[in-house]
Amino acid sequence: MNLERLLRKNIISLSAYSSARDEFKEVNEAYVFMDANENPNNNGYNRYPDPQQTAVKQKLAELRDLEINQILLGNGSDEVLDLIFRAFCEPNNDNIITLPPTYGMYSVLANLNAVEIREVLLSTEFQPKVNSILEQQDQRSKLLFLCTPNNPTANSFDNDLIESLLRSFNGIVVIDEAYIDFSINESWLSRLNEFPNLIVTQTFSKAYGLAGIRLGICYASKEIIAVLNKIKPPYNINQLTQNVALEKLERITNVKEEVNSIINERQTLISQLETIPLFVKIYPSDANFLLVQVDDANLRYRQLISKGIVVRNRTNQPLCHNCLRLTIGTPEENQKLITFLNQLS
Ligand SMILES: *Cc1c(COP(=O)(O)O)cnc(C)c1O
Repeated sequence: MNLERLLRKNIISLSAYSSARDEFKEVNEAYVFMDANENPNNNGYNRYPDPQQTAVKQKLAELRDLEINQILLGNGSDEVLDLIFRAFCEPNNDNIITLPPTYGMYSVLANLNAVEIREVLLSTEFQPKVNSILEQQDQRSKLLFLCTPNNPTANSFDNDLIESLLRSFNGIVVIDEAYIDFSINESWLSRLNEFPNLIVTQTFSKAYGLAGIRLGICYASKEIIAVLNKIKPPYNINQLTQNVALEKLERITNVKEEVNSIINERQTLISQLETIPLFVKIYPSDANFLLVQVDDANLRYRQLISKGIVVRNRTNQPLCHNCLRLTIGTPEENQKLITFLNQLS
């Protein structure tokens, strides 16, 4: 792969802003820091955070068996995705390919960055249509977004289809693995070193239970990560977020326990919903939410709201007529949902 061909011209020649903490990295209690115009009174947060988040990345690198220079952190995956657009897509010139129904941020970011969106609907089984996707690509197709497990359809894409896209797409393939911890499928991280055009994104917002700290992860070749590092805001991950993320990674077994209980709850919820007549279809789920087809999505959505139960109405998405998206809650919350739905039918 020729990375230079894919990058924006101005990004190739850009030199990164060098912050005080970039130029002098060594943190030593004995030093006198007079380089960053901080307030010298120690309150735990008076210093700028590590711009490279080395401690967090070190831990992630160990867990994923990767090099630290294959990791970039962002203020949520949303920042990671925006950096990817800004690195590769020339505004008013390049295009990206998305596979609706899928996560809304890809098209929001494309519009924000003045990049054309080429949409290739998933099949009725919610799988990528490889030939149609490849027919849509041209020399200006820079990014292809594969969200797997996919939001809102809840299924994973077939590995063979993903692999053929990785081999045949001329640009960068971004695999969004926000829900990978809930999946029976293995992460594509294990094959990152095989595909120079692969970027895998993950997040602390779902399985890790830390949506509030805003931390997204990007894994790619060290060449791609070096480019993204060059364009990221210098101190994009604040100290509080770095502290909380590190604590979580040091107690990773808690995450696995919570994930397992959510997966069990998912099965319980499916069996209960199946007995309620207003449900036309409950799609299989490889994530922490269910896509369900009901008799009348707008009506059921409003009725649920009136009982203080908030779900996502996806009826206007392609292939999702009369569909609602339900996040798996605690056992008590799920029971509340079932009790109310039983009263309705
Ligand atoms: C929730 C979600 C994310 C997470 O975004 P953050 O900005 O990290 O909170 C990313 N991708 C998909 C498909 C999601 O559903």
